[in-house]
Amino acid sequence: MSKPTILTGLRANNELHLGNYLGAMLPMVDMAKQKTGEYRFNFFVPDLHSFTTPIDHGQLYEQALDNIRAYIAAGLPVGVEDIHVYRQSFIRAHSEMTWILSCFSYFGEMSRMTQFKDKGGGSDSVSVGLFSYPILMAADILLYDAKYVPVGDDQTQHLEFTRDIAERMNSRFGNLFELPLPVKKQHEFFGKDQGLRIRDLVDPTKKMSKSDETGKGVLFLRDAPDVIRKKIMGATTDSLESVSYDHDKQPGVSNLLDILTLLGGSKDDFIGHKQYGPLKNEVADRVVDLIENFQARLGEVDDVDILQKVEVSEEAMSQIADSKLFMVQEALGLRK
Ligand code: ATP
Ligand code: MG
Repeated sequence: MSKPTILTGLRANNELHLGNYLGAMLPMVDMAKQKTGEYRFNFFVPDLHSFTTPIDHGQLYEQALDNIRAYIAAGLPVGVEDIHVYRQSFIRAHSEMTWILSCFSYFGEMSRMTQFKDKGGGSDSVSVGLFSYPILMAADILLYDAKYVPVGDDQTQHLEFTRDIAERMNSRFGNLFELPLPVKKQHEFFGKDQGLRIRDLVDPTKKMSKSDETGKGVLFLRDAPDVIRKKIMGATTDSLESVSYDHDKQPGVSNLLDILTLLGGSKDDFIGHKQYGPLKNEVADRVVDLIENFQARLGEVDDVDILQKVEVSEEAMSQIADSKLFMVQEALGLRK
């Protein structure tokens, strides 16, 4: 029996930020370190997902590699055999499987995806890729029979769709795919902080996002330390003049408390304080410290090693993906 697969992807569409780091990269890197030997780990860069919304294509290739560099700077033990690091577009089966699954996916179920509604905003010139990208995501997961996929709130619908389409294909064509576990089980497996969302510092009612228009409330991992400090000191708070942890009434302050806790500080040191300055200062010190360390490690990452690892992984993953694709092609009558 092969080992169960844990799969995670980080879109290469812009620079990574503190939310990506604390909410996605670090927990997965820790897990990879702890569970080596028990599971197969697929860390992939979904570069085909990168341009469902407009991007600077001149940067795409490097950004995909940057994401891999960032994982390594975050401590991913890439020397381990069961840990695979690959770029989606280098494995052609992703695109082919997407087409096949598309023909069994319903227009209605895609139209109900809230992320499409949020990002597409009803505009006529929104890309069909943005509309149908959950199908590509389903292919990303099903090609490798991945059972464990960490998902935040923004992705739960897509994971449910992946289960639906897998079940639909299985019941029509025989057992083709292993279903990823349902969202609740994913949360149990990955731990309670999995859904935690760092908010934007300027508008703390929304989450920090790579594709934010201004980036003013986003702490990018490559920002200079003084820029980071400035963004945190200028974070939107409120006029209640008392620190309390209440995301509805004090989203800005609560966000700072979340960041503080994730970086090893204690909320109790600040709750009840009348001034917000000391909290901001403490958060700024801790984030700057983290970012300086990260940037130093990033500077030490060796590109030759990375490319070697990526090529080996892409070769191995192509074999797995191709054999799954062939199974599906056979079931559909495309191959004999
Ligand atoms: P985009 O604006 O392009 O959607 P994003 O910042 O939302 O970018 P994604 O590529 O969608 O980033 O997500 C990458 C990973 O980072 C996912 O695992 C996601 O759950 C996590 N993540 C994204 N934003 C945050 C955040 N603000 N706080 C914690 N985790 C986050
Ligand atoms: Mg997102």
